Amino acid sequence: MSVVRPERMFMRRASSGEASKVAVGLKSKIGYSHPRAEGRLDIWLVTGTLAAMFVGAPRLITAQAAEKPLETIQGIMLQALEGKPALKARGKEFPLSARASYLLHTLEDKRLAGREVRVEGEPKPDGSFEAWKFFTVRDGKLYRVRYYCQICNIEALEPGRCVCCQRPTELQEIPVDQPGP
Ligand SMILES: [Zn+2]
Repeated sequence: MSVVRPERMFMRRASSGEASKVAVGLKSKIGYSHPRAEGRLDIWLVTGTLAAMFVGAPRLITAQAAEKPLETIQGIMLQALEGKPALKARGKEFPLSARASYLLHTLEDKRLAGREVRVEGEPKPDGSFEAWKFFTVRDGKLYRVRYYCQICNIEALEPGRCVCCQRPTELQEIPVDQPGP
């Protein structure tokens, strides 16, 4: 029966505490279910498996990052050719790319041009630098950038309009040693 396959996946993922909890929960549901409900339970099992995969995903990324330490460059943010972001540091200009699209959109934000910033990531063979993490620097202290709508109290990762009221969001800088807003 098709129920067996997701169960096996759970067994393989037994190291993840949360995944096995989900599996136990689902097993008890199956025990009390009417045979006619089995089709639906299949869907629940698949959904549970996907959820477990998402739970596991951030750990994989962390593990990758741990394998190879990120390089840090600190300098002045430039909007170079055609507004493409670049970082002026160590007497050179590093064209910037980003690991995630929200980060690229932040680097392209013209409000950050001329600011001192720190970028952590990976140097590329073509001389550019792929940003994984991005901070602004004020008086030697690091700040993370967020985009905020005061009216809706909604935080966004990238510049643009508020997802709720559609007004432009405000660029805010939050000290990284401060735990949350
Ligand atoms: Zn809003």
